[in-house]
Amino acid sequence: MKILIVGAGLFGAVCAHELSKKGHDITVIEKRDHIAGNIYTKNVDGIQVHMYGAHIFHTVNPRIWAYVQQFAEFNRYTNEVVANYHGELYNLPFNMNTFYRMWGVTTPDEAAAKIEAQRSILKDKQPENLEEQAISLVGTDVYNKLIKDYTAKQWGREPKDLPAFIIRRLPVRFTFDNNYFNDPYQGIPIGGYTQIVEKMLDDPHITTELNTDFFANRDNYQQQYDHIIFTGMIDQFFDYRFGELAYRSLRFETKELDTPNFQGNAVINYTDSETPFTRIIEHKWFEFGNGNAHKTVITHEFPQPWQRGVEPYYPINDMENNRLFKQYRQYANETAPNVTFGGRLGLYRYYNMDQVIAAALQFIENNPNF
Ligand code: FAD
Ligand code: UDP
Repeated sequence: MKILIVGAGLFGAVCAHELSKKGHDITVIEKRDHIAGNIYTKNVDGIQVHMYGAHIFHTVNPRIWAYVQQFAEFNRYTNEVVANYHGELYNLPFNMNTFYRMWGVTTPDEAAAKIEAQRSILKDKQPENLEEQAISLVGTDVYNKLIKDYTAKQWGREPKDLPAFIIRRLPVRFTFDNNYFNDPYQGIPIGGYTQIVEKMLDDPHITTELNTDFFANRDNYQQQYDHIIFTGMIDQFFDYRFGELAYRSLRFETKELDTPNFQGNAVINYTDSETPFTRIIEHKWFEFGNGNAHKTVITHEFPQPWQRGVEPYYPINDMENNRLFKQYRQYANETAPNVTFGGRLGLYRYYNMDQVIAAALQFIENNPNF
């Protein structure tokens, strides 16, 4: 088959790689001037810079872990995030180090008792939004200093207007363990992420065209190809006919500094409301500082509203938008049988990298046409 893949991000690249192995003829078009979508990394003076925010690979799935090893060697990086609240430093995710710093408690029982007392304001109510979920998990002090303002900045909405699942991404532990993830497999590809996508697309059956927007030529593409895999925004594909889905955007400010060590950690979150950015990333620490002994590269991450023409980094999976997405999905099934929607934007899901790979592999395995 002649297959067009719109988007050279991870979903598109996995599809291109797997379908080319089956002998299909693949064209990948990408509107940006580089491959790899949001996992794009660039070498700046020996430091691999995550150009679209910190990306840590982690998974529970041994098959997906084995799959990515084909394309890069991974280091043993473990994400250990520090939160800065008005100059006070706390370990994340929420664990005994956090609770000790917050309350001076030294045992799991003391920490659990503090949380139990603070969550009583919920009066055994089932948490229905992010605020209630957070207070139920870690109490009001942790919520007020480490969650409330960060979340409002990140999403541009009050935590009580956000779905509870977002805060359940973060572990809560009664051990002194600062690992941001519970997954058994975790690491950073030595030499960056871009090589992974480069290798996936390196096949004589695959042609990749950069600076090429599907919407500039959609009628032609729809006539020329037997099948289209679309990893852009599903609402844009259908001209927003049922209305816009909600997204959150970001602005990244990256600079190189003539200092060997700016903040001593890869990721520091700023959890107060006055600081306009959510995090500062110091990229060299993803590879243990190996890239450059004298310089460093840092990125400030500023959340911003999404509007047409701005990059949609996060879907906002509240009930209203999930319902609207379903409507688009149903319309797609009825009117566009030769188009598959995939990835974070095509499926409108807060997917991590491993979930994107798993979804792409599953789509190809379950589709008898391929
Ligand atoms: P994308 O990477 O967005 O790729 C889609 C591509 O399609 C883009 O390159 C886009 O330019 C292109 N495109 C869109 N529309 C068109 C069009 N009309 N024509 C041509 N091209 C088009 N995941 C983790 O597992 N760990 C992390 O630590 C992590 N951190 C993250 C931090 C941030 C700030 C963000 C935003 C995401 C993070 N993720 C993380 C998620 C990860 O980035 C995604 O799971 C993954 O990149 C999604 O791949 P994708 O192919 O679906 O989308
Ligand atoms: N969060 C928070 N304080 C923090 C870090 C995270 O309140 O210091 C909340 C916030 O709502 C965020 C969510 O937890 O959106 C998920 O955090 P994660 O680090 O997984 O977000 P991502 O890396 O996907 O932006």
